[in-house]
Amino acid sequence: MRIASIAGRAHLIQSDSAVDIASASNNLFPSDPQGLYRRWDEFSEWAKTLDLDELDSARSFEQRDLGNPVGHPRQVFAIGLNYADHARESKLEPPAEPVVFTKFVSSFAGPDSDVTLPSDMVDWEAELVAVIGRGGRDIPRSEGWDHIAGFTVGQDLSDRTIQWWAPPAQFSLGKSLENFAPLGPWVTSIEEIRAEHDPQNLKIGCTLEEANGSTSILQSGSTSQMIFSLPVLVEKLSALVELLPGDVIFSGTPAGVGMGMNPPTYLKPGQTLITTIEGIGSITQRFRSSNP
Ligand code: ZN
Repeated sequence: MRIASIAGRAHLIQSDSAVDIASASNNLFPSDPQGLYRRWDEFSEWAKTLDLDELDSARSFEQRDLGNPVGHPRQVFAIGLNYADHARESKLEPPAEPVVFTKFVSSFAGPDSDVTLPSDMVDWEAELVAVIGRGGRDIPRSEGWDHIAGFTVGQDLSDRTIQWWAPPAQFSLGKSLENFAPLGPWVTSIEEIRAEHDPQNLKIGCTLEEANGSTSILQSGSTSQMIFSLPVLVEKLSALVELLPGDVIFSGTPAGVGMGMNPPTYLKPGQTLITTIEGIGSITQRFRSSNP
């Protein structure tokens, strides 16, 4: 099952058709994507009974019609240095406990979006983003997967000038500028991912396209390289903070960010970044100058 947002309303996606969930359920379920996670088990059961092809209300859509698929979660967790090779390129020790910051919800954007570059040190970080279904405290890692509703593709865009303004690092601010958290194209349910893949062994990466059409691969990793797996993150976060339905976890980025290049290389106006995770899909961000 895939859940996308079109005009701010949650839709079920099947190949190139979308069905408005509130309409198709006679308002049994709300149009706000966040509302679905509060009743995730009930919603999943209902969605299984639908045959989208038989619904008159199914409509076609284009990727540019899609918005951020998770709406406005109450809590956003982001994990720094969660891939050993990325910690190494950052010249930092792999952490003994998860490094946690937030991306403020006002930075969320859809899967096909434009980003104004506020400085010449904006970096890319392809990330698998988990969406919490059932919340809770003190969730053991053995039950961690049961609390994840699904996954989406995210970019943890990062202004390294702000991030390193002063010690301690300003991770949350430097990563929360306008449109710095593009997500999408949809949330793929954990059940659908698992039908063909292991969520802890998905190819993840991003490609840069220049204005002249030439492309280069920036990141190419696997979620198998995470230091703290998703169930371990659920355990460690829920030991301290109650996880709420619809919360999201940006689970860290593999090696290949611009800060780790020699010399360091950052995003430029006119470039397009395509971020892809196996089993979910791709998001596309175009970058433009802050001077019109
Ligand atoms: Zn990150």
